Amino acid sequence: MSRSSVCELCGSSEAVSLTEVSPSDASEEQSIYLCANCKGQIECGELDETHFNCLNDSMWSEIPAVAVMSYRLLHMLGRQDLVDMMYMEETTKSWADAGLSSEEKLVYKDANGVILQAGDTVVITKDLDVKGTGFTAKRGTAVRNIGLVHNDVEHIEGRVNGVKIHILTKFLKKS
Ligand SMILES: [Zn+2]
Repeated sequence: MSRSSVCELCGSSEAVSLTEVSPSDASEEQSIYLCANCKGQIECGELDETHFNCLNDSMWSEIPAVAVMSYRLLHMLGRQDLVDMMYMEETTKSWADAGLSSEEKLVYKDANGVILQAGDTVVITKDLDVKGTGFTAKRGTAVRNIGLVHNDVEHIEGRVNGVKIHILTKFLKKS
C-alpha cells in the first residue's frame, strides 16, 4: 500500500509533513503524514473533538503508525469506547502504549464494565464491611463525587457515613 502526502488522520492535503510516532526509528514506517492542523493540535495537546471525528476512520488503518497515533489520540479524548474496539498486533499495541502517560493507561470500570471517572456517582451493589470503621456500607448506598485511587484500578474512594473509604470497583455500579 503506497502512502501519499495527504493527512493520514483527516485527509487534508494542506501543509502535510511526515511526523515521527515516538518512540520511532525515524523511518517512514514509524511515522505518519499529518496536516498542519492535526499536527499543531497534537503538539499543543489540545484536541478539537469535532475535528478528530476523523479518528473514527483512521483507527481502522492498516498502517501501524496511523493506528498507533489514532489510539493515543482516542485516549486523550477519553474515547475508551472506541479504544476498546481497536485490534492491534501485540508489537503495535506495545508501541501504542509506550506513548501514553501512566495515568492514561489506567482504566477504572464498575461491575458491568462501565468506565468510572472522578466525580461520578456510584451505587454499592453488596453490603460491605468497612475495615476499621465498625459500620457496613449497605447495598444500594449512593456514593457521590468519587475519586480514583492512584495507580489502583480496583478501587475508588468516596464518602460513606461521612467517612472517606476505599471501595472495590467490582462492588459498584455507575448510576
Ligand atoms: Zn489532518
